[in-house]
Amino acid sequence: MKYKVLYRKYRPDCFENIVGQEYIIKTLKNSIINNHISHAYIFSGPRGTGKTTTAKVFSKAINCLNPKDGSPCGECEFCRNFQENPDIIEIDAASNNGVDEIRALIENIKLAPTNGKYKVYIIDEVHMLSTSAFNALLLTLEEPPAHSIFILATTNIENVPITILSRCQRYDFQKIKNEDIIKRLKEISELEKIEIDDDALEEIAYLSEGGMRDALSLLDQLSKVDQKITLELIEKQIKTISQKNIEELLNSIENNDIDGCLNLINEYRLRAVDYKTLIKKMIDNASERAKKIKKNGLIKRLNFEDYKNLILMLADSLNKININVDSFTILEMILLEFFEESSLKIDNKQGREETKEEKIEESNKEPIKEDNNSFDDKLVKIRINNCFVDAQKKYLEEAKMAVEEYLSTSSEGKIKSILMDSNVVASSSKNLILVCNNVHNIEIANKMLKEIENSFNQDRGTNYKMIFISSEKWEQEKKMYIENLKIKKSYEYIEENDIIKSEQESINDVFNKNKVEII
Ligand SMILES: [Zn+2]
Repeated sequence: MKYKVLYRKYRPDCFENIVGQEYIIKTLKNSIINNHISHAYIFSGPRGTGKTTTAKVFSKAINCLNPKDGSPCGECEFCRNFQENPDIIEIDAASNNGVDEIRALIENIKLAPTNGKYKVYIIDEVHMLSTSAFNALLLTLEEPPAHSIFILATTNIENVPITILSRCQRYDFQKIKNEDIIKRLKEISELEKIEIDDDALEEIAYLSEGGMRDALSLLDQLSKVDQKITLELIEKQIKTISQKNIEELLNSIENNDIDGCLNLINEYRLRAVDYKTLIKKMIDNASERAKKIKKNGLIKRLNFEDYKNLILMLADSLNKININVDSFTILEMILLEFFEESSLKIDNKQGREETKEEKIEESNKEPIKEDNNSFDDKLVKIRINNCFVDAQKKYLEEAKMAVEEYLSTSSEGKIKSILMDSNVVASSSKNLILVCNNVHNIEIANKMLKEIENSFNQDRGTNYKMIFISSEKWEQEKKMYIENLKIKKSYEYIEENDIIKSEQESINDVFNKNKVEII
């Protein structure tokens, strides 16, 4: 026996089996009962929500010899031969979008129906018709023969001319609710003897985004693996990420578990889960949590504002995924920034102080560390100062453009993700001040200044020196700079080499004193 895909096999042939569009079905049935049939309908809505199926059942019902309560009887001559009926004409505008096809259709429309009461034209994806085809269709819609009915279907109603819309009765199909999809999937799985877990059913419903056709196609695809359909199987087959995974991830954020959170992200990276789906699910989950807080006033570790910020940050990340950087790195940065900014900050601070103490402990063992810190601080001061000597708006514009150009051409993943996370806030002809959005990046960036500068200056023929600071520090520096401008205090250029030399000498002193060898 020829295999029929599930969605065709279980395509509803009566109104009762169409899932989720109760209001539309009721209105259409009433129009049949009351014999108020219009000459043109437009069914709009997302894919897989039952537009074409409804159009077919409706055309069957209007021609049925003994309709029962607005539904086709399924027994009369017309109902039985519905599939072969030459008076039900289906056109896919996506493949026949020319004016010739529409003209041929209009020629044909003049002829009376061969056996039913009406000739029905179902034009799928009608928004794909060309302008001249639309014009030809419009002429027919303006004066339709009494026996003709048009049912136009579209996933993109915005692209259907208003002149066409104004001639049609419009029905907006809604995404099908998950629980309705689950119910139908369950029925079909039982009939087909497909073994499937409840959470797998939920996952399929979620993935199909309110479209029954997609849900059934997924079920079809998964049932071919020849084992019980579980959440794990779905994750493996569809490279998706389950609701359970998303719960874990959001819980790790809520529990301020930075390590746990980064481990999970890395796991998803290795599993090559689809990044867009991941972000979309995170946004859905976070917004559910935010809504719960607003509704029930639940006391959680994160508040409503936190979730709102998280959602905005995640949504923004979708704009960045076209740039040739590992998307998961961006997500890591975003989440680290979120940990920093959320109401959990107090906990984070405690965490940071501990590590500082640990550092001091370490530095007691190795005196070189403290000296290095003061050296870094000096370099930050010098470079900010040197930038202010000749900071100009035109240099800033140039520098910003150079960074943008670098981001679109370079393949240095790590440097790119650092630069992507930072903004040039001031520039002279030689010095750039950059603010890192994520404070964790400041230390990393300043430690690899030479590497970043070399990579950046290389192809541009520039000779920029950079320094990375936090936005708080930048605000302070900017304030001071403006005050100095007011009192006309000028900045003097400081040679870095002098300081570095003297620093090196003092470091050597320390080494000599402590008899530590330079590595
Ligand atoms: Zn019938």
